[in-house]
Amino acid sequence: MAEKINAVKGMNDIMPPDSARWEWLEDKVRSLMGRYAYRMIRTPVVEPTQLFVRGTGETTDIVEKEMYSFEDRLNGEQLTLRPENTPGVVRAAIEHNLTYDGGKRLYYIGQMFRHERPQRGRYRQFYQLGAEVLGFPGPEIDAELMVLAHQLLAELGLRNIRVELNSLGIPTERKTHRAALVSYLEGHTALLDEDARRRLHTNPLRILDTKNPAMQEMVRGAPRLLDYLGDGSLQHLETVQRLLDACGVAWTVNARLVRGLDYYSHTVFEFITDELGAQGTLCGGGRYDGLFEVLGGKPTAAVGWGMGLERVLELVAQQSGALAAPVPDAYAVVPMPQALPVAMTTLQLLRAVGVSVQMHAGAAEGMGSMKSQFKKADASGARFALIFGADELAQGMVTVKSLRDGSGAQVQRPLAEAAGWAAVLRA
Ligand code: ATP
Ligand code: MG
Repeated sequence: MAEKINAVKGMNDIMPPDSARWEWLEDKVRSLMGRYAYRMIRTPVVEPTQLFVRGTGETTDIVEKEMYSFEDRLNGEQLTLRPENTPGVVRAAIEHNLTYDGGKRLYYIGQMFRHERPQRGRYRQFYQLGAEVLGFPGPEIDAELMVLAHQLLAELGLRNIRVELNSLGIPTERKTHRAALVSYLEGHTALLDEDARRRLHTNPLRILDTKNPAMQEMVRGAPRLLDYLGDGSLQHLETVQRLLDACGVAWTVNARLVRGLDYYSHTVFEFITDELGAQGTLCGGGRYDGLFEVLGGKPTAAVGWGMGLERVLELVAQQSGALAAPVPDAYAVVPMPQALPVAMTTLQLLRAVGVSVQMHAGAAEGMGSMKSQFKKADASGARFALIFGADELAQGMVTVKSLRDGSGAQVQRPLAEAAGWAAVLRA
């Protein structure tokens, strides 16, 4: 036998029966996005490396150490498997002048790639649901996006998720704060770990969200960006808070919630659970009014979030238990290969009117015994067997046998009028 080939470490296969959960989740997402009038956008998984160097930021963990980058062997282009999708969405919006006639509300679901240490809730390929709203500077959109995320998690049946909120103000406010922060941190260099020292002059804001326990105390005493916000920024934050209150979304301010990059402004937020261990952030987002310009576009307000779907589904499994595996309505028992043409055309009719039918497959073995076919019908979970026996077919009929109610009741139905009696199978 040839040697087996396994999946790349940290990259998961999603297979039945678990894939049913993903279909369930994606259906819920589509339905809710439709109700909020958000439209789908799909951009390539591979983008020019420069898009992320500029759009995600040179000083971020992602760009410093987590990207899958490679050179196209055929033309030498520097390419990267997207580690996040906001830069791709903004690139596409600029490239196609998407906001020429007004703002746009967008969403996507897709794979992201980050070379991280794989662990629970942290993979090298993972799925993100993202929502991005382009062209609206007002706080009501920040609130709408958060209300949307909140409603989605609620419609998935999830509980005990808290919302943390902060404001990053505008660039001039951040500049003043940054100077104060750097001088504070320089007064405590002995306490800074290696990462923090490296970031001290590149991305000091990021030091505030360190997970290093040895730095917590020192960081707690650092100047808070919130104290440097002007009236406009405070007003923006307060409007978001008031609208969240009005919509019944509870929030707390976390002054240390940051995104380190200059193109962020105003609102940043996270949806967090304490029930998934260390990987408890389900959704993170914020306003990035400066990104269009960084990527060569016209100044355009923008705000969005990304949600890790593996984490969401793990919490669903934990809080709601197993999802019932999907079963077909009926299983088609076909005693003889000669019955296949009639059986298959009848099944087409049934499927056209919404019935789910699994056909017995076994023509290579003369279809197999009735006993073995009924065993398969039973295992399929179908409520009915459709029996395409020679006697029935001769009369233009098929037998519909009840498999689950204990009665074993059998009724004959006319083949030609399948659409007429299809409803009994779906009851
Ligand atoms: P974390 O602090 O958990 O690393 P992050 O700040 O890197 O998160 P974002 O870039 O904001 O995350 O991505 C949004 C969401 O995507 C996260 O809140 C999380 O739910 C999910 N996510 C991020 N990285 C991974 C990963 N490696 N595997 C699975 N999900 C992930
Ligand atoms: Mg990360």
